[in-house]
Amino acid sequence: MALLVQKYGGTSVGSVERIEHVADKIAAARSRGHRIVVVVSAMAGETDRLLKLARAIDLRPDPREMDQLLSSGEQVSIALLAMALRKCDVPARSYLGGQVAIHTDDAFNKARIQAIDTERLLADCAAARVPVVAGFQGIDPDGNITTLGRGGSDTSGVALAAALHADECQIYTDVDGVYTTDPRVEPRARRLDRITFEEMLELASLGSKVLQIRSVEFAGKYKVPLRVLSTFVEGPGTLITFEEESVEDALISGIAFNRDESQLTVAGVPDRPGIAAAILGPIGEANIEVDMIVQNVAADSTTDFTFTVHRNDHERACEVAQRIAAELRAKGVRSATDIVKVSLVGVGMRSHAGIASKMFTALAAEGINIRMISTSEIKISVVIQDKYLELAVRTLHKAFGLEAASTST
Ligand code: ASP
Ligand code: MG
Repeated sequence: MALLVQKYGGTSVGSVERIEHVADKIAAARSRGHRIVVVVSAMAGETDRLLKLARAIDLRPDPREMDQLLSSGEQVSIALLAMALRKCDVPARSYLGGQVAIHTDDAFNKARIQAIDTERLLADCAAARVPVVAGFQGIDPDGNITTLGRGGSDTSGVALAAALHADECQIYTDVDGVYTTDPRVEPRARRLDRITFEEMLELASLGSKVLQIRSVEFAGKYKVPLRVLSTFVEGPGTLITFEEESVEDALISGIAFNRDESQLTVAGVPDRPGIAAAILGPIGEANIEVDMIVQNVAADSTTDFTFTVHRNDHERACEVAQRIAAELRAKGVRSATDIVKVSLVGVGMRSHAGIASKMFTALAAEGINIRMISTSEIKISVVIQDKYLELAVRTLHKAFGLEAASTST
C-alpha cells in the first residue's frame, strides 16, 4: 500500500464537472489500496482574476493583503473537491495551509516553506480519510497567510510528499508528461518515460512551463520521486529520476526555447579590467536579471560586450546601458528584441563530444545564423532570429533523433 501525494492543477479542477472527475480518480486510486493526500490549485483563471481585481485598486498592492486575497482561490477548490469526494463515499476533509500547518517565512508573494506539521494528515490517512490541502499557501511565524509565487502549488505538493515520506508525488496536469519539445512547435515531439532531475531543472529554468522550478529543486534536494501525468488521459506520464543510467543512451532529452529574451550590445568598450562589472553592476542594481553574457576578445584596445535580459526589461536595460556607454566612452548601444533562445538539454553531453558541432552544423544547413552561444555541462543554448524558431526546433529534433519511434505505442 503506497502513500501518494496527488497534486491537481487549475485546469484539472477548472469546473464542477472536472472536480467530479478528479474525485472519481482519487476514489479509484484509493480503492486500489493506496493512501492519498491531495493538493489542489485554484480553479483555472481564478488567481489571474483575483490579481486583476487587486490591480484595479492599486498597481502595487500591499503584499500582505495580496496574499490574503490570492490564497482565497484555493479555499474554494479544496472545499468543492472535498464535497465531491464525500459524494463518492470517500471521507475527505479540506485544509487551508495554516490549518495543516504549512509553515513558511514571511516573504509575502514568494514565501518559502520551512516546515510542515504532518499529524493531522497522518491521522486522516490512518482513519482512511483523504486530506485535501490548499496548494500555493502557508502561514508565517506571526500567523499571516503567505503564498509561494505563481505555480506554487507544485511546490506545496512536493513539500508535502517530502514531509510525509510519500512513495510518489504525482503532479496531475493538462499534458500527459514531459515532452522532447513543445508539441505545438514540433508535432512529432515524444513523451519521455523518464528524465533526470538535472535535466528537468534545466528545462524548467529555460522556460518549459510544466513544473514550477522551485518544486523541481525541492524534489531534487529531498529526493522525492516525482511524476508528471495527465488528469484527462490515462497513462504512465513522465517519471523524474535520480539515476542517469536509466536514461539508456539518449544523448539529448529535450529541446527548450524561450521567446522572452532581448539582446543588448555595448559596442566599442575599452578592453581593461573592471569593464564587465561596470556594465553588469548597474544592470543588477536596476533589478534586471541577465541571462547570457558574451564578451569578445579585443583585436585593438576596444571590444563589444553583449548580454540578454527578459524582454519585459528591455526598455529599462537599454536606458541603463546608454548611460553606462556614455560613462565608458563606448561607441554606442545596439539592441534587438527579434531574438529567441533555443537550447539542447541532456546529461548525455557529459560523456559525448561533438554535440555542439552537430548542433551548429544542423542549424547552418538550414541557413540559420547563430548570434550567441552559451553552454553548461548538460546544456547548449543558442540565440537566433525569432523567425527561425520553429525551423530550428524541428531541425534539431530531427538531427538528434528525438521523433516518436514508429514502433512506439
Ligand atoms: N493558483 C496559483 C497560480 O495560479 C498556484 C498554482 O496554480 O500553482 O499560480
Ligand atoms: Mg500550475
